[in-house]
Amino acid sequence: MKLKGKIALVTGAGSGIGEAIAFLFAREGADIAVNDINPETAEKTVDEVKNIGRKAIALEADVADTDQVNAMVDRVVDEFGGVHILVNNAGIPIHGPFIEKQTPETWDRVVAVILRGTYLCSRRVGQWMVENRTGKIVNISSIAGARATPHIPSYGAAKAAVIQMTRTLAVDWGKFGINVNCISPGIINTPLTQRTFALWQTPEEIRQRIPLEVMGEAEDIANAALFLVSDEARYITGVNLPVDGGILAKG
Ligand code: NAP
Repeated sequence: MKLKGKIALVTGAGSGIGEAIAFLFAREGADIAVNDINPETAEKTVDEVKNIGRKAIALEADVADTDQVNAMVDRVVDEFGGVHILVNNAGIPIHGPFIEKQTPETWDRVVAVILRGTYLCSRRVGQWMVENRTGKIVNISSIAGARATPHIPSYGAAKAAVIQMTRTLAVDWGKFGINVNCISPGIINTPLTQRTFALWQTPEEIRQRIPLEVMGEAEDIANAALFLVSDEARYITGVNLPVDGGILAKG
């Protein structure tokens, strides 16, 4: 088991990629703090983690809210004694397709959840990690942060900023033994994808964009996250790893 004795906080872990990461980390021996804005899905993930045989708590919090994030991280430290791993996964899609019809409020909310949320969680967890001279942080960005993706300017801009913030945190916190890395998923088969891409692209159109010719699964992202938080990746920090079936390589 690669994560025996570790405590992992995964945001947005009630669904999709976050849920898959919670399950895989639990199978590798970690206890899991399951954050989601939706308490019901968080509880469902907690039940599954407990079935795997690990400890878990559900933490209802909006990652964009400073007080809620601080209270959430404090509770993890109180109940588990620390937080060795943070996965900043929570994200929201925007319901396109017309940029000119999107409201400034939509922009603000998308940027708040993706960028401010990643900052707030990293900041609070980082206080514990710096003090304890240990930690692994994985930020879930997107290929939309590296190339233009139609209809989602707020999402793409926020995801690009997450990639850049990853580098800054890696450089600042390297001396404390903290690794900070990023994963950029391509098109992954999750509820979010069903609510976004699938609304304006057929399965065949999606398939044609992907060199490996299939959509990714949440487990593909979880496997990459496990590698980045494991001892095997001890000398890797500040990178952005696309897990996208070759979409970025295709350009
Ligand atoms: P998902 O199935 O919708 O899961 C995201 C989870 O985050 C949901 O449970 C959601 O709750 C929760 N959440 C939303 N806002 C939150 C907030 N403010 N605080 C805490 N939790 C919040 O989406 P996914 O596909 O697994 O996406 C996970 C991450 O991967 C996101 O950051 C996404 O941008 C990124 N990503 C996904 C893809 C893809 O193809 N799926 C590609 C590139 C990047 P609600 O459902 O209640 O909103």
